[in-house]
Amino acid sequence: MKNKKIRGRLILILVFVIMIASTILIANLVKNKTEFSENSAQETEEIGQNSEEELSDFSENLETEITDENSSLDEDQEQKPETLVETPTIKNENCTTSFGKLMLINPNFTVSTDFIAQRKTQLVNITELYGIKEGNEYNGIPLLDPEAAVNLNEMLNDYKKDYPGHEITTRSCFRSEGTNCGRLCYATGTSDHHTGYTCDLVDDAYGGLLDTDYLESHPEWIWLHQNSYKYGFIDRFVSSWAGGSMSAPVNVDTNGTTGLYETWHFRYVGKEVAKEIALGKYNDGNYDSLEHYLKASGRVKNLLDKTSCN
Ligand SMILES: [Zn+2]
Repeated sequence: MKNKKIRGRLILILVFVIMIASTILIANLVKNKTEFSENSAQETEEIGQNSEEELSDFSENLETEITDENSSLDEDQEQKPETLVETPTIKNENCTTSFGKLMLINPNFTVSTDFIAQRKTQLVNITELYGIKEGNEYNGIPLLDPEAAVNLNEMLNDYKKDYPGHEITTRSCFRSEGTNCGRLCYATGTSDHHTGYTCDLVDDAYGGLLDTDYLESHPEWIWLHQNSYKYGFIDRFVSSWAGGSMSAPVNVDTNGTTGLYETWHFRYVGKEVAKEIALGKYNDGNYDSLEHYLKASGRVKNLLDKTSCN
């Protein structure tokens, strides 16, 4: 009877121990499972974050590459010369283009479209810098050589002082393209406007028409013709060097004939040379042409040969 009791207690203790052990085991299993799940979730999250970061980096890189590509495309487009109309093929450069402000561009001393495109990059916007207005918006932004622009601004300000309430505006300065419209227009590569030293100038108060006979009586032409050399500009196409009347055009010749008569066309050559041209140092005291001046001063040998610089 006593043994039976003891066996019964032992069995109870054993069952109790087994229950406790089972409880501990289950508790451990549950704990491990929770940790595993948490770790898995964390890992998944980290992988997700990494993937998102990598994707975002890739997108950023791609965007940067696309932006770079676009900006280089824009640059390419900007660097390309403007679309040229009826451009004649000009194979050789002109020997005077190294003369700087004395460079000669005319139907005999031509330049290439590459030269014109490069020259454009050296010029400044005179509307932005000095408030000098272009009178015909079809001509676009007036561009000019920086040194010429400083002197043009001074000249036009002095004109305003002499003619209060008046203003001279440009009718195109630098041109990328020539124009094919007869005597007054030159094909691409042959125009003085490619030099970056030239502006056509008129005072709108006097009509602003580019008609020589009409403008000749205009105060702004008379003032510019008489005073422009003091600012380094010359009256580029005076009647005495046109070589004939407007109805009987002639081409530039070996003596210095320009073939043009334009009261509005002023060209920067620097003060020293402008004075010599305006006061006729090589032309018996009479207004000279740039062509004749370059030959008479020994800089160009033959005005029909653009390779004949000294
Ligand atoms: Zn002109």
